[in-house]
Amino acid sequence: MQYKMQAKNLNLYYGSKQALFNISLDVPSNKVVALIGPSGCGKSTFLKTLNRMNDLIDSVHIDGDIFLDGNDIYAPDTDIVYLRKRVGMVFQRPNPFPMSIYENIAYGPRIHGTRNKNQLNEIVEKSLRNAALWDEVKDRLNDSAMGMSGGQQQRLCIARVLAVEPEVILMDEPCSALDPISTMKIEELVAELKKNYTIVMVTHNMQQAARVSDYTAFFLNGKLIEHDITDVIFTNP
Ligand code: ADP
Ligand code: ADP
Repeated sequence: MQYKMQAKNLNLYYGSKQALFNISLDVPSNKVVALIGPSGCGKSTFLKTLNRMNDLIDSVHIDGDIFLDGNDIYAPDTDIVYLRKRVGMVFQRPNPFPMSIYENIAYGPRIHGTRNKNQLNEIVEKSLRNAALWDEVKDRLNDSAMGMSGGQQQRLCIARVLAVEPEVILMDEPCSALDPISTMKIEELVAELKKNYTIVMVTHNMQQAARVSDYTAFFLNGKLIEHDITDVIFTNP
């Protein structure tokens, strides 16, 4: 099988404190991999190694490798801006920019060089459609994103990631700040998105992992203690 991403013997330290211990995990293309485990076990830390978000913390030291399409993303010549475009991230709390709905989506493509107004309009519409948000917001694209509901804001954040054409989408407990209906909408969206993207999602909710993921990886105390096809994990307790 061709893996979209692979971690190999990954260790991560916050200063002298080791937070990840020899993690090896394969992420197949067009699947959803759920990372589960109790609070503080390293799920979020591991997730952020997949697009080098941890580099933003000075004390972090990593050894081991992470491959994207077979290339080591920690190689010295890695273009980190391009890496983060390819491997996008959605956070626990919806974090729209304090700008219009339109500008939230157009911002990323502009940074990556798209200036043409018609092209930007197309990207905005397509991204919002693919995030199952277009019908709800098409008549108020110039309204501030801050006036949207939490669930809408989270779908906007997903649309913002889609707008820069990622290959992998990392999600860090994307539903934990949302109500049950909004959670259901995000779960349905994830099922739809995996047709075109590879998704790695942190959740502390076992039922959610069982509902949305193809593979489940259990973390405990910084170690990957079990990983398998989700159906296997949840039918053979
Ligand atoms: P989880 O996502 O499973 O709740 P985290 O990855 O957030 O766990 O945390 C794993 C461990 O690393 C915890 O002990 C946490 O306190 C520690 N940790 C997380 N972020 C930092 C940081 N920026 N500096 C130091 N320690 C951290
Ligand atoms: P979450 O529940 O989203 O993992 P946390 O409250 O664990 O959030 O962490 C919030 C932020 O604080 C994260 O950016 C994390 O990296 C950082 N953090 C967590 N634990 C520590 C720690 N022991 N020392 C320094 N920063 C930490």
